[in-house]
Amino acid sequence: MLSGWGRTRLSSCVVLCPRSPRELAEALSGELARRGGVIPRGAGRSYGDAAQNDGGLVLDLTGLRGLQVLPGDPPVLRAMAGSTLSEAAAVLAADGLALPVLPGTRHVTFGGAIAADVHGKNHRVDGSFGRHVREITLCTPDGRLRNLSPQSERELFCATIGGMGLTGAIVSATIAVRHLYAPMLPADVDRTDHIHQALELMADDVRHRYSIAWVDLLSGGRRFGRCTVMRSNDRPAAEALDARGELRWRLPGRRRLAVPKEFPSWVLSDQLVRAFNGLRWHRTRARPTATLVSAGAHFFPLDALGSWNRLYGDGGLLQYQALAPDDRPEVLIEIVQRLRAARLPMYLAVIKRFGEGSGGMLSFPKPGWTIAIDLPAGAPRLHDTLDAIDSWLVSEGGRVYLAKDARLRAELMPAMYPALDAFQRIRAAIDPDRLLRSDLSRRLGLEEVGRR
Ligand SMILES: Cc1cc2nc3c(=O)[nH]c(=O)nc-3n(C[C@H](O)[C@H](O)[C@H](O)COP(=O)(O)OP(=O)(O)OC[C@H]3O[C@@H](n4cnc5c(N)ncnc54)[C@H](O)[C@@H]3O)c2cc1C
Repeated sequence: MLSGWGRTRLSSCVVLCPRSPRELAEALSGELARRGGVIPRGAGRSYGDAAQNDGGLVLDLTGLRGLQVLPGDPPVLRAMAGSTLSEAAAVLAADGLALPVLPGTRHVTFGGAIAADVHGKNHRVDGSFGRHVREITLCTPDGRLRNLSPQSERELFCATIGGMGLTGAIVSATIAVRHLYAPMLPADVDRTDHIHQALELMADDVRHRYSIAWVDLLSGGRRFGRCTVMRSNDRPAAEALDARGELRWRLPGRRRLAVPKEFPSWVLSDQLVRAFNGLRWHRTRARPTATLVSAGAHFFPLDALGSWNRLYGDGGLLQYQALAPDDRPEVLIEIVQRLRAARLPMYLAVIKRFGEGSGGMLSFPKPGWTIAIDLPAGAPRLHDTLDAIDSWLVSEGGRVYLAKDARLRAELMPAMYPALDAFQRIRAAIDPDRLLRSDLSRRLGLEEVGRR
């Protein structure tokens, strides 16, 4: 039984764990795949139903591991699809190097990072993960290994970046990396009374590489939507190793605490989260503050608590991540106001800024703004409210992130993702028997044949 990180829906799947590209090719083109379809899976950190395939085959690719740094300008990392960004960060740091893009958890695989074209807090400056991918080795449903790059098989390359595993299984990839930065980052921290002010701080900010706003959506009255805005830069690391040969750049805090199985969901209440949000806000000084923040706490604050998704109990958690176009930041405010009007509990919300897209056909980021809001999946009126927001969002030029989604309606896909048609045509050419499919692709009709 498999689910995504949000634990909203369980699917019964046959799971195979290939240990080599050959085993992977056999599984992908084999009898089990023909019977019930097949989808690759990484660390299972996507929130919804992207990495599961009810009644069919799932290829757990976490057994395909290996990392190698190759010199060059910039140097590149050759990574097997099942290695995690966390493992890579350690290997790279020893060579004075770092990954250019980090999502909010380091426990994702390279396969998952490319298939969702993940973004970090530096999207406006550095783009998403796909921008830094130089080459992909992809196993297609005919069992063939193909080398894709922006120069060769470009269309399939662009369909695979952000393609949610529906063009084949990524076996390995080459990623351009950057020089290591010091473990403490200079940051400007501001607190604002409303989202408007946070958006203003982030709008034309060219002084910072990273920016994020934590939004408190549980405080009432005038305080609704107060934010802590963290904008930061990095500095080159003086040296990767100290005098004893130890890595100076410690990997983000080792997980000390984890939420146990069977955690009762009633513990996570409005009151508790309200108190936590209030603490965060009050801890931030009223005047703008220049400070140093540790890379671990900055990049991966949620990794400090293992299995935190269990806090939401059996009902699970839904993360609604929406994008608003560059000139329409107020769309984000309208979203939270609509959720508030429906009296839905919004436990965690962050806003980030997006720059240019990567060219991935189903990639989420494009110039604009994004908000990600965590909601208990069992909350009354949640689905109807989000359905109504989706329909309106589309008319505003916005869209929903597929790696977080568990409930979007298929009819909105073509407007949200204008390259869907091209994606489907490419898919139909490499997967004429439609072997590659997931619960997400069935729900959204992604594996259907393009219309043109
Ligand atoms: C706490 C937390 C914070 C997060 N923060 C961010 C963030 O800041 N930015 C962001 O963009 N995302 C974020 N995410 C989402 C996460 O980065 C993506 O969902 C990512 O795809 C998960 O990678 P995974 O290895 O777990 O892949 P899975 O969840 O297992 O799979 C995700 C998709 O990738 C496909 N896939 C996996 N491996 C392969 C492969 N080898 N070949 C082809 N397709 C493959 C699957 O079929 C599926 O469609 C966050 C998730 C969590 C839990």
